[in-house]
Amino acid sequence: MLRVAVVGSGPSGCYTAQSLVQADSGAHVDVLDRLPCPYGLVRYGVAPDHEKIKSLQNNLRTVLEHERVRFLGGVRVGADGVAAARLRELYHAVVYCVGAATDRHLGIPGEDLPGSWSATEFVSWYSAHPDSAADTFVAGARPDSAAGAFVAGARSAVVIGMGNVAVDVARMLARGAAELSPTDMPQAALTALAASRVTDIRMVGRRGPSQARFTTKELRELGSLPDTEVTVDPEELAADPAYADPSALPAAQRRNVEVLRGWASLPPKEASRRIGLRFFLRPVEVLADGGRVGAVRFERTEPDGHGGVTGTGRYEDVEAQLVLRSVGYRGVPLEGLPFDAEHGTVPNLAGRVLRGGAVAPGEYVAGWIKRGPTGVIGTNRPCAKETVTSLLADAPALVGRDLPEDPLAVLRTEGIEPVEWAGWQAIERAEAELGASFGRGVVKLPDWESLLTAAGSAVRQGHP
Ligand code: NAP
Repeated sequence: MLRVAVVGSGPSGCYTAQSLVQADSGAHVDVLDRLPCPYGLVRYGVAPDHEKIKSLQNNLRTVLEHERVRFLGGVRVGADGVAAARLRELYHAVVYCVGAATDRHLGIPGEDLPGSWSATEFVSWYSAHPDSAADTFVAGARPDSAAGAFVAGARSAVVIGMGNVAVDVARMLARGAAELSPTDMPQAALTALAASRVTDIRMVGRRGPSQARFTTKELRELGSLPDTEVTVDPEELAADPAYADPSALPAAQRRNVEVLRGWASLPPKEASRRIGLRFFLRPVEVLADGGRVGAVRFERTEPDGHGGVTGTGRYEDVEAQLVLRSVGYRGVPLEGLPFDAEHGTVPNLAGRVLRGGAVAPGEYVAGWIKRGPTGVIGTNRPCAKETVTSLLADAPALVGRDLPEDPLAVLRTEGIEPVEWAGWQAIERAEAELGASFGRGVVKLPDWESLLTAAGSAVRQGHP
């Protein structure tokens, strides 16, 4: 019987488990996650107001509830956890689906000033990620970590980047309490955003509108936010050679440009909040005002004729008390696995991990750690399938090895007590109860202690 460990329960991990059990392999799959909660970025990355995308959790749930799949939460793999080599001893194959856990840096002066955050930090906060340091005191946390630190005292915000994460964080900043309250966002973040005085949000891209990375659906949504005006500068847009006639652009870019052209022709509207989209400005410095962020200095760029830009030596300072750097995610090395530092991925051939250029038997990757942080959730499905095809082709050579009867029993003898499915279901119940206590729907538990206490109640009630 083929026994596989999948490390990571986000979309790529769940799609990997799904492909494994759907294939006629009879495989038994343990899906391990560092967190006590499953679903990875679907739970901790998809914006709370995107209920439809969040409902994908229901599909992923079916996978984790499959009779040959086990969810083992709260199990760290790598440094300070189960060593990669140990996992190989317990399973015939291990598939790493650990995503891209950190954010890319700009590498400009002032980037780390109080008030300048990565979008990932902001997303983690409003998504109730238990590692978010913004609402709880954590030893070694940033000095400006405190309830509502993101928006407290801010009137204007600059979001650097033109991807879907930038659109998410700009939209969340523009949402009012009435729209946020029905979501599952944690109560402290809801209270802080409801009290936010941020009225001007600028999303700034270093290239032109035809190179923006967001998808048109997400862009369009900005235009339908209540009490919010979206502004663009027609002159700035026109610096893009494709702006006047976008017909030759690939469909996705053409549609983006068409939406922006539509906004450029709209008359001004009365609204409490504004989202301004700015182009051809590259960040060169985050400027301080009284020890914290006061503005961002940008250099005006112009197209170089090959899809890139060159600097013009002209600068513009954009005022902001909050800066969110949304310039992409980055994979982090996992101890015991090879790592391609340039791309932030694990070197692989169709999902088979390569060590020193040679295939490492029984070790695989899928998702962002395999191909880099691109694509939407659904992109992970074919990606996982490719990896599983490789694994199943190798399986006859892998299953010959004798394994301990049950890896979970071995992990327990080594002092690891995973949060099993019943524990996760207890967390779900606790989140429903918490929400009811606020007169809201489900509200996420935002810290390790409350998650583990809730999960532990399942054990106390006699569940495994
Ligand atoms: P992204 O799509 O890679 O966008 C990153 C943005 O940062 C680009 O505009 C890029 O500009 C800019 N950038 C990079 N380095 C920069 C620098 N040094 N200075 C200024 N700007 C810089 O990344 P993302 O927004 O984090 O999204 C990651 C993935 O998740 C994407 O595939 C996205 O579609 C997906 N996602 C999807 C959804 C959804 O479907 N609703 C929501 C969130 C995320 P250049 O193009 O010039 O490099």
